[in-house]
Amino acid sequence: MPEDTQDSDQDFTPEFFLPADDEHIRREKAKARLLRDSQWWKNLRGTGLCYYCRKRFPPKELTMDHIVPVVRGGMSSKSNVVACCKECNSRKKYLLPIEWQEYVQQIQEPGKRN
Ligand SMILES: [Zn+2]
Repeated sequence: MPEDTQDSDQDFTPEFFLPADDEHIRREKAKARLLRDSQWWKNLRGTGLCYYCRKRFPPKELTMDHIVPVVRGGMSSKSNVVACCKECNSRKKYLLPIEWQEYVQQIQEPGKRN
């Protein structure tokens, strides 16, 4: 499988730099799709473990999430992509980054479960 072989960073000149990150978003989303088909993702999701709340779910209920969102410049790399449950995923979408951090700290703190 060719992966990233078409990248031509050497040809990258300031003239082609786009202030709007549309190209980045398009490219990272395409990479995310490839990643979603990979054995790596299947294994990760197969653990059934949500990266954020650490609860277990049926693998098909886990969704792919970027720790640093693509729209904020995050990459679709194995170090930035995690499996998380739908609840965490939707919370992450509507919380501010700082609120989200607090939430994650709270749910990961031992002995704070109801
Ligand atoms: Zn979760």
